[in-house]
Amino acid sequence: MNAKTTLKQTEIAIVGAGPAGVSAAITAAQAGAKVTLIDENANPGGQYFKQPTLDQPTQLPGNLGTNADKGAELISGLEHPGIELLTNTMVWGISEEDHHLKLYGRGESESLKADRIIFASGAYERLMPFQGWTLPGVMTAGGAQLMMKSQGILPGQKFLVAGTGPLLQLAAVQLLEAGGEVEAILELQSKKEFLLNATKLWGQWDKLGQGLANQKKLKASGVPIKYRHVITRALGDREVEGAVSSKIDSRGRICPRSEDVYELDTICISYGFLPATELPTIAGCEQFYDPAFGTYATKTNSDLETTVEGLFAIGECRGIGGVSVALIEGQLAGLIAAQQLGYDADQDETALRKQHSKARKSIENLGRLFSFDPGICDLVPDDVPICRCEGVTAGEVRESIRRGASQLNHLKPWHRTGMGRCQGRMCGPILQKFIIHEAGLEPSTVEPFTARMPIKPLPMKAVADYTTEGGETTWEDHVGGYGVARTEL
Ligand SMILES: Cc1cc2nc3c(=O)[nH]c(=O)nc-3n(C[C@H](O)[C@H](O)[C@H](O)COP(=O)(O)OP(=O)(O)OC[C@H]3O[C@@H](n4cnc5c(N)ncnc54)[C@H](O)[C@@H]3O)c2cc1C
Repeated sequence: MNAKTTLKQTEIAIVGAGPAGVSAAITAAQAGAKVTLIDENANPGGQYFKQPTLDQPTQLPGNLGTNADKGAELISGLEHPGIELLTNTMVWGISEEDHHLKLYGRGESESLKADRIIFASGAYERLMPFQGWTLPGVMTAGGAQLMMKSQGILPGQKFLVAGTGPLLQLAAVQLLEAGGEVEAILELQSKKEFLLNATKLWGQWDKLGQGLANQKKLKASGVPIKYRHVITRALGDREVEGAVSSKIDSRGRICPRSEDVYELDTICISYGFLPATELPTIAGCEQFYDPAFGTYATKTNSDLETTVEGLFAIGECRGIGGVSVALIEGQLAGLIAAQQLGYDADQDETALRKQHSKARKSIENLGRLFSFDPGICDLVPDDVPICRCEGVTAGEVRESIRRGASQLNHLKPWHRTGMGRCQGRMCGPILQKFIIHEAGLEPSTVEPFTARMPIKPLPMKAVADYTTEGGETTWEDHVGGYGVARTEL
């Protein structure tokens, strides 16, 4: 039954063709290395430089178009004889022993062995649930951006944008530029907190400039930014037909008689980002708690090499940092990985290192614009599902925490949270906030779910077809231990 998997070899394998991965590939190839760049999407570009996948060339409006054009310019550098680009190809695992990558794309399974691996797998969005959040018409702000950028589709007509962080204002501007109406932006932080945090970006003129330009456009279009407001309910039986918001006080409690009701069809949510660290975690790379963004991220040295020799982590996967950091880290890791293999790149390494440490330093302040108190978990009623894959409610989670659950992995055997289709990418960060708040724990002590292969859903065939050099391997070799309930309670 098992078909043989193709075994491939390269010098530098890069997982993720976003700004970080693309710039690493170009730098390493220009130095002379043989590079294989892999991305599960149809086109390189990642989240920021997402390219349209439409048959007809389309000029996207405003900021979306500018980013796509800048991305196309960067991506043109991939036309280099030293770079093999594998799109529509997911890296679903990595062997713990010899670090060969497990690939599935275009109906085929492949195994890729590389002398060096650079993880550039980007980030996920963080959400907070509310009544009705599973209705069609509720999506992440990044999801809405994705539909506009890649398909040229406006996912609704009348929008409410809610959560926290500067992405809310940017996404609202992009929705307006694409022809949507934005009823309001609900920002969790107070205006004072938001502006104070924004002033800490002093010196980062591009970010401040973009923020001010967005605010100007929103004002001109009459879009109110309601600070210290949250969405409490999505209205509608079969799909979103409206929403209810409330003002909250400085202790995060709903202010009485502060409700606003909106008629609309789409709600976009964003509460910041989390690094996509499953592959480096499985490979044994040490993770660390990044207090600036309240997330776990992959630890590296100043060469961007992880605690496992020969494996690098860059961009969001190394810790949320934004597009400028991702581009610089790509160049630096591409350069170092190529040098380790004996190639000599035409790059000013000292200047690159200086730029890098300056860019990373400034990011600590950006994190404050996304931070929020886990106390807002109190606003989620008991009957609201938190794990939507397995239908586990906030009340059930609270009860388990009261009974002693103090880690995400404790909740797994009790509720199957993290074992559904999203594999914890959506519910994990929410559950983390719940545990921190309900159990009164230090954020850094609550660890993410254990990463397991396959890291994302894929056809059973992909695993069944999989063979390694030594012969055929079985399902248990790849996902062994999965489903064994363990608890320290
Ligand atoms: C939803 C979302 C919206 C954002 N919107 C903005 C914005 O509007 N403005 C802004 O300044 N910043 C935004 N950011 C942040 C910005 O995208 C990043 O700073 C920048 O793109 C980071 O580049 P990167 O290369 O590290 O990651 P990304 O650009 O995310 O690229 C990672 C790539 O890795 C691929 N990948 C991941 N895992 C695998 C795998 N297992 N197998 C194969 N391929 C894989 C992904 O398909 C993706 O193409 C957003 C981030 C997210 C997650």
